[in-house]
Amino acid sequence: WTKETLSIVVVGASGDLARKKIYPALFALYVEDMLPENFTIYGYARSKMSDEEFRDYIGGSLTCRVTDEESCGDKYDTFLERCYYQPGQYSDQSDFKALSDRMTETEKDMKKANRIFYLSIPPSIFTAVAGCASKAASSPTGWTRVIVEKPFGKDSESFAQLERELSNFLSEEQMYRIDHYLGKELIENLTVLRFANLVFEPLWSRNFIRNVQIIFSEDFGTEGRGGYFDQYGIIRDVIQNHLLQIVSLFAMEAPVSLDAEHIRNEKVKVLQSMKQLSLDDVVVGQYRARQGKGVNHPGYLDDDTVPAGSLCPTFAAVALFINNARWDGVPFLLKAGKALESRRTEIRVQFRHVPGNLFRDRLGLDLDRATNELVMRIQPDEAIYLKINNKIPGLGMKLDVTKLDLTYKQRYNQHLPDAYERLILDVVNGDKRLFIRNDELDAAWALFTPILKEIEDKKVQPELYPYGSRGPVGSHYLASKYGVRWGDIMTTDE
Ligand code: NAP
Repeated sequence: WTKETLSIVVVGASGDLARKKIYPALFALYVEDMLPENFTIYGYARSKMSDEEFRDYIGGSLTCRVTDEESCGDKYDTFLERCYYQPGQYSDQSDFKALSDRMTETEKDMKKANRIFYLSIPPSIFTAVAGCASKAASSPTGWTRVIVEKPFGKDSESFAQLERELSNFLSEEQMYRIDHYLGKELIENLTVLRFANLVFEPLWSRNFIRNVQIIFSEDFGTEGRGGYFDQYGIIRDVIQNHLLQIVSLFAMEAPVSLDAEHIRNEKVKVLQSMKQLSLDDVVVGQYRARQGKGVNHPGYLDDDTVPAGSLCPTFAAVALFINNARWDGVPFLLKAGKALESRRTEIRVQFRHVPGNLFRDRLGLDLDRATNELVMRIQPDEAIYLKINNKIPGLGMKLDVTKLDLTYKQRYNQHLPDAYERLILDVVNGDKRLFIRNDELDAAWALFTPILKEIEDKKVQPELYPYGSRGPVGSHYLASKYGVRWGDIMTTDE
């Protein structure tokens, strides 16, 4: 690294994502000595700021989560000294040239100068920025990589258009499409769990798995930021990307190696094998106000930034099927919602009954509850646990359902990196395993575009559910159609 520099440009430096996620992640990487020795950070946006004002701005967002306050404190100032700000327009090449000239100053005397552009901006200006950055600010001596944030279009057509436009300026190799769910600890562990243990992979198929549930719930609504959300809705915002990515990692065949292309080759096959979605397998909902004793939660339509009468779903549940030999007939039930009872993201794998279970009658086991279930809790409070039937100690023969429990906080007493830390580090190292390839998005949009269009064309009325509840009743009917009970509802004590 000594003869190389790395410039990281945060485009949209004044924005919410940059402040909330990108600067803290860069700081954490710096504190952990994971960034190259010669790195510099540049903020770029239209807002007027001096370097000093920029440092003050990001300084407020840096928290010391990696190590003790004292050693963080030392690094705090040295980190900020490496941060600069360049104001400019998003479609003005000369402004990007001015940025490039500034970068050249810190890059001189180095053999190789690498550059990362993090596009933390609204999608409407992705192409303009990609064009200006590539024409006027690409590195003349090293690599130039560009991180793009979702949304990647709104449907197949707009995604294809975005890709066409971006490909005029960037090669696929340069593009890092972020889905921050792929950077989460438990998601990265999914492949380890499956392929580095003998006990799981042989069970990982229709022969032993009855259904798979992927559940995302938030316990807050749009809280005045519904204007953006309303253009997308929960299916585009969460299910088509984050949850579908989890399905593809969960269900893929063993890749040839851990090489990014090998993994993504397998993921895309899963997406391409999905049965076409029908409206019968989709439930949409929208939260309504809830008032009561000491409770006063507004409904989605009470958010001033949401258009009156919007039919935008804030909740959706879908049943997906993968038409291949491994998963034929196994329902993958996905559910995502805002303003629900709890905040959690988890994968729940419900196994089949034990054939001819010796204990079924005599001990009064509720067979539905007594099947094994593997739960991977992605957030909060990361954990993997397996529900098993166990004999209650004592002279009698009583069974109960208990957990083999790997709760991360108890087992690993250490800081878990934020998804953005891992992902930014991967971009620095050129590792694309956790980034989405364009054909994966093609397949994901091919699956969801027809159903989104149908929901919108038919003006499907979302089922209303009270703020802070378990969501629409329709999601239970959907599950029961396939003989399934939602695992999170069965066991609210978890
Ligand atoms: P943001 O705060 O709305 O925008 C980032 C910056 O872009 C703003 O500070 C503003 O900077 C500039 N900007 C905003 N609207 C613009 C417009 N209409 N035309 C030109 N410039 C505009 O966005 P964000 O929440 O940081 O998100 C950035 C990207 O990440 C978006 O693509 C978003 O979808 C995605 N994302 C965000 C989150 C999140 O938690 N916020 C999560 C996942 C993905 P100046 O006015 O100073 O130029």
